[in-house]
Order: sequence, then structure tokens, then C-alpha cells
Amino acid sequence: MRSYKDNKGSNIAIKIIAGIFIVLLAATAVLAFAKYRSERVNNEAKTQKEQVKETPTPAKEEAKATKEPEASPEATATLEPSPEVSASPEANVGSDEELTAEEIKDRDTETGKVYLTFDDGPGENTNEILDLLKEHNVKATFFVIAQDSGKYDDEYRRIFEEGHTIGIHSYTHDYDQIYASLDSFKEDVTKMSDYIYNLTGYRTLFYRFPGGSGNTVCNVPMADCIKYLNENNYSYYDWNAENGDATGEKLTPDQMVERVMSEVRNNRNSTVLMHDTISKRTTLESLPKLLTQLEDEGYVMLPLTKFSKKVQQVKAETVN
Ligand SMILES: [Zn+2]
Repeated sequence: MRSYKDNKGSNIAIKIIAGIFIVLLAATAVLAFAKYRSERVNNEAKTQKEQVKETPTPAKEEAKATKEPEASPEATATLEPSPEVSASPEANVGSDEELTAEEIKDRDTETGKVYLTFDDGPGENTNEILDLLKEHNVKATFFVIAQDSGKYDDEYRRIFEEGHTIGIHSYTHDYDQIYASLDSFKEDVTKMSDYIYNLTGYRTLFYRFPGGSGNTVCNVPMADCIKYLNENNYSYYDWNAENGDATGEKLTPDQMVERVMSEVRNNRNSTVLMHDTISKRTTLESLPKLLTQLEDEGYVMLPLTKFSKKVQQVKAETVN
């Protein structure tokens, strides 16, 4: 017959075994859950990577990267990023897999690159310019202003969707208004950033000063404007070649081509200033010849990317 003491002892042993069993069971459950989580996150990341691969345009890819930075639930919180939190064009220098063909070419080509840029649009000539660029399989950069009539909404979208770089060239292009004070400058940049974002879903960080960064019409010290752009991760681009369509010289299309070619041949890399507004019809007329000539002479035409060397009249690095 077992004593009361024996019974007590075996009860304690049963309790200990049961306790160990429960702990083991809990540990197995935790491990199984962790494995399931990690597989799920991996799968989501894989799917995202595949989606990015399907959209090989720089603008689109950057927008996607801004919208969907991580395979985490927090990603939705950055659906409407402000310029303050967006990645700078220099940031996120990823592996080859994450870069577009243009970005790789921009990064890997040392000299002979030509960045065609069109300011002040979109306008009457933009669609035809886009047609020509498409025909030549060339991507360019459009520094746009606001066209509140809504008449050119499709053109903003087309620029973005066809893989060209879209950048801010101010909301109003009214020097007196934009450059009246630092506050009005900031307001103009923010307003145009939102304007482009609302039409394309893309938060651009490419900027071109109306009149260039070396303009003499700004009432605010240019250093203050540059400081604001630097602090908010914008990169600004001036030019070192132009076709003369804003000089009032009334050049013929052939003369415009010659102007560009003579300047391009003198630079290691060229950022070419042109305009796609209605009054610049000659620019459109000169484009087929210009594109052919640049191709024939072996230049690589690219949109501005995070790898482009910035042509700046007033250098950003000089401003702290
Ligand atoms: Zn302009």
C-alpha cells in the first residue's frame, strides 16, 4: 500500500512532466509561427521585386519605391510622402537589379552623355515632341510648370508614363512672385510638387530654377533657396548647352541643331536647354535632325537620373 507521502511525490512528478510538455508545446508553436511569418514576408518582398521589374521606367520605379518602401504594414503610412521624407535622387543606390536601363547607362557611361531638357511646358508642342522621342527611343527630361486649365493633364501623365524624368520648374514661372521672398519660393516649390503628384502619383525631387540658379532677378539670396532645396532632398539642374530658342535670335531649325552640336562637342557631358511651349515651334521642327545627328555622332541620350552629374551655375555644395 502506498503511503500518503508516496502519492504526494508521484503527483509532483506528474505535474513536472506536464509542465515540461506544455513548455515544449508552446515553444513548437512559437517556432512554427515565426517560420510562417518569415516565409510570408519573403514572398511579399519577392512579389514586389517582380512588380518593380515590370516597370522599367525611372520615374515609375522611383514612384513605386516611394509608395512601397518595405514589405511591411507600415508601408501604407507613406502613401502620400512629403518632399521632406522622400528619398533624394542620390539616395537608395541599389543593386543593378533595382536600377532601370537608363540609370545603369547613366552610372556606367563616363563621357558623351546628352541630357535633353524641355522647360516651361507642357504645352501645344509636347505631344509631338514625345512622339519624336518615342520614335528615336530616347528618354528626356521635362521641367514643367502648372497649367491650371487642365488642358494638358494628359501630357503630364504621358511624360511620366513613357519614362521621361519630370521635374519642377515652378508653379507660376512668374519671377516677381516666386522670388519675392523665401516663403513665396518655398510655397511655389511645394505647390508644384503637389500639383505633379496629384496628376502622376510621383513625388519628384528634380528641380530647375526659373532663369537658372545663376539668375539675377531673385530678391532672396540664392543661397537661401538652395539651402531649402538641399534640406528637402531636391537636386537642381542648370544647363551647359542650349538650342537658342529663348534668346530671341529667331534661329532656323538648322541653326538650332548647329548651336546644340557645337556646344555638345565641347563638353564631356551636356545638359541641353530647350522649351516645349507654343512659341517654340522651331524647337519641335529642329528635333528630328538633332536626334539623328546626336545618334550619328555616338552620343548617349539619357533622362536625368540620380547618377547624372549636375550642371549648376551656383553649386549646391557651396551652400551650407
Ligand atoms: Zn523657364
